[in-house]
Amino acid sequence: MGFLQIIQILLFLALVGTAGYIAYGKFKEIYDNINMGKPEVIDTTLGFRIKNMLLIAFGQKKMFKLTFAALLHLVIYVSFCITQIELIEIFLDGLTGSHRLLYHTFDGPVFQTIYLIVINFIEFLSLLTFFVTIIFILRRTTFKIERFKKPELKGWPFRDALIILGFELTLITFIFMMNGGDSALHIQEHGHGYGFILSGALGNALSGLPTGLLAFIERVGWWGHLSMVLTFLVYLPYSKHLHVMLAFPNTFFTRPEPKGEIHNMPAIMNEVKSMIDPSFVVPATEGEVQFGAKDVYDLSWKNLLDAYTCTECGRCTAACPANQTGKKLSPRKIMMDTRDRMEEISKGKKEHGPDFADNKTLLGDYITAEELRACTTCNACVEECPVNISPLSIIVELRRNLIMEASDSPAEWNNIFANLENNQAPWQFSPEDRLKWTEELN
Ligand code: SF4
Ligand code: SF4
Repeated sequence: MGFLQIIQILLFLALVGTAGYIAYGKFKEIYDNINMGKPEVIDTTLGFRIKNMLLIAFGQKKMFKLTFAALLHLVIYVSFCITQIELIEIFLDGLTGSHRLLYHTFDGPVFQTIYLIVINFIEFLSLLTFFVTIIFILRRTTFKIERFKKPELKGWPFRDALIILGFELTLITFIFMMNGGDSALHIQEHGHGYGFILSGALGNALSGLPTGLLAFIERVGWWGHLSMVLTFLVYLPYSKHLHVMLAFPNTFFTRPEPKGEIHNMPAIMNEVKSMIDPSFVVPATEGEVQFGAKDVYDLSWKNLLDAYTCTECGRCTAACPANQTGKKLSPRKIMMDTRDRMEEISKGKKEHGPDFADNKTLLGDYITAEELRACTTCNACVEECPVNISPLSIIVELRRNLIMEASDSPAEWNNIFANLENNQAPWQFSPEDRLKWTEELN
């Protein structure tokens, strides 16, 4: 093994090790942040979980409610999965200092044919992805797609989307530099290419260049490809693109209840039971009962996993009747705010220790009463979400806190609440008078 090879292996190990270390730190932080949430039991069978994960995350079933966007997304998704195969050889080459290790090790006709099919498939898919990525950039920047123009997407979320799309274009360019340069070198040495159709054509066009320049192009492509993959790995947990990983656990832990079913609060349920049946004994509760959620600590881990899984696609907001009628509520913003609040707490803990407190809360500092009051609890956001997120679950918890802990509700609502509490009905009549209307009957 030559000196250059040793340097390459060391550089490869240093890059992979550094990227892996940084990414692990951030993934661990996200895991801890999700665990800030309260326990929630999701009582489903393994079959139900796997079915949801396969259909919705792996099979992209709900994406196809918008066919054109789904097809574009499918190209990028399949391309992302398939290009990982080529990455296996890149990693093996990086670890051993070799060049196209798989191609040269398994030189039987069957393996060579499979190898050619795979690389050609990757290249065609990469080219298609290049054009799809440009369409995605145009959709974000030029086309008038209402859900991408909402206020919550301004600033970092807009840049985040473009950064990843830029990564994709750069990555594909490096793939063709690597394979094109390598094909040209192969043509110079053997009089023919590997048999790659697209990069082979590129190699033919480049084969007149000096060998040193071709080797340089190939190496830039190889290291560039590797660097983009590692950069993506490090960037992923800071980005909405984390959904490429979290969509799987999030759909795996889909709640089994029918959409629209809202969990009762045990304390209230017992109160109502005792109103209906005076013999009912309200069970004793331990500690102070808190209604709803004020901050991320009061939400469940599933709510917090939802927030990190959100792709910011805005399908929920586009379907939200409150948003459509000009109200301030955007279910996408609810998810983004929840994630931002977790990140803020996590940053504070890193800087000031685990007991960090900043006197801020999700309710009030991030999400306002005006937004929460606008929700009709129609469930359209839950129905539309391609990765089974429930913004409504967070809205209901925050609204419960707003009303039952902070007593912050419009005066008109307060009358109804007072009647419910005193008369067990929304009207201003005593329960004893409820059957009075029957007195006029024969
Ligand atoms: S449940 Fe609320 S947030 Fe969701 S779509 Fe309906 S009104 Fe909008
Ligand atoms: S909650 Fe779901 S539908 Fe709404 S922006 Fe996030 S991923 Fe999209």
